[in-house]
Amino acid sequence: MSAASAPSREDFFVRFRGVRGTVACPGAEYSRYGGNTSCLEIRCAGHLFILDAGTGLRALGAELDAAGPVDTDILLTHTHIDHIAGMPFFIPLFKTGNRLRIHAGHLWDNEVRLRDVFLRLIEAPIFPVPLEAVGADISFEEFRAGDRLDLRPGVAILTAPLNHPNGATGYRIEWGGRSICYVTDTEHVEGEIDTNILDLIEGTDLFVYDATYTAAEYPAFKGWGHSTWEAGAALARRGGVGRYVIFHHAPEHTDDDMDRIADEAQGVFASTVVAREGLVLHP
Ligand SMILES: [Zn+2]
Ligand SMILES: [Zn+2]
Repeated sequence: MSAASAPSREDFFVRFRGVRGTVACPGAEYSRYGGNTSCLEIRCAGHLFILDAGTGLRALGAELDAAGPVDTDILLTHTHIDHIAGMPFFIPLFKTGNRLRIHAGHLWDNEVRLRDVFLRLIEAPIFPVPLEAVGADISFEEFRAGDRLDLRPGVAILTAPLNHPNGATGYRIEWGGRSICYVTDTEHVEGEIDTNILDLIEGTDLFVYDATYTAAEYPAFKGWGHSTWEAGAALARRGGVGRYVIFHHAPEHTDDDMDRIADEAQGVFASTVVAREGLVLHP
């Protein structure tokens, strides 16, 4: 975008590449919402940000590879397997000339470095191709959840620590007066509002949230690190967000279950959208 041209709709949007949590779930009963795990393609001011590298990353990689050299920032919420499983199958990883900067903010007080996690994932006998055979120029950039990242001119990336086993980071990407917030994986405390999240999402246009369970299901999974669509709706209301996006669907929730959740959630917070693979939203 030149300084003279006004931002257009196509300058900032998110395309959902994987919306599932925990584990990929192929099958006819998941065909409408999709079975791939967490991955968002965010286009912002001519740049590509990839949020999480779940199995949804694979198809994105094939498209990027066909379009030419890849220069991207991959922002990880954390490194649980459903958020990184697509990484070894990301074709641009294996091509020279590509530049990948992988960011994470949950390991700052951990003795394991982000690079170590990546090495484990592609190490024999788990994966046949060694790191030396990876052609792309990769850098591992660690920060502390809560830091502000300035990766591109005019784009502000705010972060916040989330309540999740082994830690996780929520993101807010702001540009041209618009913003998208990506808040997964996190567990709420019943009857309380998470002020880290509330501060991050205040007034945002799009609020993507870990709504793995329904409130009725939640008691059986307390302490597992995930939240409910009801807790997300409460945050959306308190934060005055534009649209609330239900995300990180449990693999047990079929398309019919997700339709029911969409109906109920829209009754509570009208501007609710249930994420599905391929969905494009403009903030
Ligand atoms: Zn997850
Ligand atoms: Zn997790």
